[in-house]
Amino acid sequence: MLDIAALARLGGVKKYGEDEVFFNFGDNGKEMYIILKGRVGVFINSFDGFPAKLSELKTGDFFGEMSLLENLPRSATISALEETVVLIINESNFEHVIAQQPNLAMRIMKGISNRLRQANEELSFLKKGTKPGEEDSSDSTGEAGAISSSAPVAVKGPIFPPGHKSYNLIAPSTHETYLFDKDTECPVCEKKFPVRMMRSSKLRLDKVDNDMRQHFEEFEPLWYAVWICPHCLYSNFNFEFKQISDALKPKIIEHGKTLQGKVNLNFSIPRKIDEVFLSYYMTLQTLQQNGKPEPGKFAKVWLRLSWLYSDVGDEEMYDFTTREAYTAFKDSFFNTRRDSSVEQDQRLNLLLGELSLRVGEKEEAMKFYRDAIVRKSGGNNVLNKQAEDCISALKASLAADQEGV
Ligand SMILES: [Zn+2]
Repeated sequence: MLDIAALARLGGVKKYGEDEVFFNFGDNGKEMYIILKGRVGVFINSFDGFPAKLSELKTGDFFGEMSLLENLPRSATISALEETVVLIINESNFEHVIAQQPNLAMRIMKGISNRLRQANEELSFLKKGTKPGEEDSSDSTGEAGAISSSAPVAVKGPIFPPGHKSYNLIAPSTHETYLFDKDTECPVCEKKFPVRMMRSSKLRLDKVDNDMRQHFEEFEPLWYAVWICPHCLYSNFNFEFKQISDALKPKIIEHGKTLQGKVNLNFSIPRKIDEVFLSYYMTLQTLQQNGKPEPGKFAKVWLRLSWLYSDVGDEEMYDFTTREAYTAFKDSFFNTRRDSSVEQDQRLNLLLGELSLRVGEKEEAMKFYRDAIVRKSGGNNVLNKQAEDCISALKASLAADQEGV
């Protein structure tokens, strides 16, 4: 047992509020934390960089030891699930802490191996996806609010592609339970502005689609995933908002000046879907300022736009954005260097198979599904099974096409 009272006397005690983030995936840091009181969530970025909750840690548990011991970047995002008090251990007090609590060293070693095992188990749950035979029956109007009866109005402007409309969809009141307000500092212009944060501690995963879309009970994170600085118009996904290169900052500021007065960036409460669409298209604007295009980043935005268009029932724009996502993911998959794991590549192959199907390229889809099956070590059997199911369904569909000829 750790003597928590004794540990607390070693100094470096800090309190974190509910949903406050200790650090983000990829951050540098040299501290580890022991939870003296409270509970935290461990989040990893799934294959396309979006956070998924892996596990929880409670009083007496610790985290961040890999960064302290091996100087590695943070391998997960950690945030408080309730008010949490931690002891912060760094290089200067580590030996002192170990001397006072010798069994802590052993626990750290055991903790590392246990956590890896647990992570693998919980990841396989997240990757199960929609059960075979279970159709996506979610009724977007019931889930996300009410679409007014008036027909969508075409929207023109410097931001939206042709065919984009105004959709009159408003966030349902259930969303508020999962949100809280906070000020953040823009990494580009360094001015402060308020953002709506998600209470990740409260989110309940309902199901995962074949295209990796996660559905949650009573809440749609897509509506709040993008932050826009109202001062310089820098836009990006919230979990990588601070990760912006210095070289890009002046370009974003210059570009923002050209858009000032042309876009209305005020988010309403409750939020309107039109504002949500704008936030994603503004993120594309940010990405376009980079001279070296990163197709993987564009792909993430297009895929999410396709989900939003699916929710508002705009088939034409759904097709358009699905194609954009498909092209960008393929470009990222074949033409850019990725430091992804075998499993991440399996998932990307599954996604590419799904997107191929949606754009009508069945032969292509078959290739991606086959490549998603990896029997050697590192391959995930849940994903193998999912790929096999997709192949069976596709074979049946191809056979039906034959008969139809
Ligand atoms: Zn700014």
